[in-house]
Amino acid sequence: MDLNSALSQIKLRNQNLELCSQLDIELLVLDILKISKNDLYRDNPLLSQDQQDRLLKLIDRREKGEPLAYIREKIGFWNLDLHIDQRVLVPRPETEVLVERILENFNSKKLNVLDLGTGSGAIGLALCSERPLWNIVCSDLCPQALSVARRNMKKNLLKVQIVNACWLDSFVEGRFDIIVSNPPYLSFDDPNIFSDGLRHEPLKALAAENHGLKDIEEIIVNSAKLLAVKGSLFVEFGNDQTRKVVSLFKKNGYSEINLYKDLNGDERFCSGKITKC
Ligand code: GLN
Repeated sequence: MDLNSALSQIKLRNQNLELCSQLDIELLVLDILKISKNDLYRDNPLLSQDQQDRLLKLIDRREKGEPLAYIREKIGFWNLDLHIDQRVLVPRPETEVLVERILENFNSKKLNVLDLGTGSGAIGLALCSERPLWNIVCSDLCPQALSVARRNMKKNLLKVQIVNACWLDSFVEGRFDIIVSNPPYLSFDDPNIFSDGLRHEPLKALAAENHGLKDIEEIIVNSAKLLAVKGSLFVEFGNDQTRKVVSLFKKNGYSEINLYKDLNGDERFCSGKITKC
């Protein structure tokens, strides 16, 4: 086989690497050649010297711990193809559980929905793609993140309202049927924050004061005011936060509290309903 062919290069470069897997290299080659996996195995095209140099640079970034989504500047989430860069957290597959549970609980009837701390827009845009009649607001404190969300909205031909706000500060009472959030919930002293992948991500999107609970608490407290009658809040939280999160839901008047597990079987999501008189 020609040493410059894509498949030879994938094999050749997949040596003495710690973080970059063969699959990572394969995806990087597909990006460089702008071809599909089918094309790769059918045609096994050549990689020019320039393309090989680019591949080496990208492998080097991956070896230094940068998440593949930042290097490829994209990731799949739900049925969407999202642009991703260092301005936003990389959407995790487990967050799709939130989308799934919401879709399971609500049909296509028109609803007002708020995705708080939307980042790349992943949750709000996934909901929008499944429930086109819903009026969805995606908000974030960080204008740079909102640029990414806006880009993803256009890229996926969807329509949501994009709002710059600090959690629930700019919203009017009793307006939303569903509020959903994947807020920062790691503790600032969580050693994972300095691990290879996470240290490349925006700290503000990962960690919160009060052992990671400050923002979740603010969201639970203020959503109680901003939810419509029988409105529901859905939040993602961290391992070992179940007891505290459930107690915050109870303390703030939510009923029908439900916990949902991630793909590892850990409780990572909570929902509750506000019943107002
Ligand atoms: N999900 C992130 C992690 O597992 C933590 C921060 C977040 O998603 N809100 O690393």
